[in-house]
Amino acid sequence: MQDSILNSLSKLRPVAYKGGISFVDRDDDPDYQCKQCYKPWWKDELDKHVFIVCQKCHGELRAVTEQEPLET
Ligand SMILES: [Zn+2]
Repeated sequence: MQDSILNSLSKLRPVAYKGGISFVDRDDDPDYQCKQCYKPWWKDELDKHVFIVCQKCHGELRAVTEQEPLET
């Protein structure tokens, strides 16, 4: 039991963003960033939601691109 918790924690990767750090169990870059609280989001996390808004503050999201990378 303890081991499985440690295992899943060790897979988490910190993603630093302006205003905080998100711990995620994935290696790909985020698809969106909240314009209000700057939290990063991944497309598949939001797919199940009807409205594509920040699930933390309900702020507007913008696409993260090479030209406009994640704000940190
Ligand atoms: Zn937000």
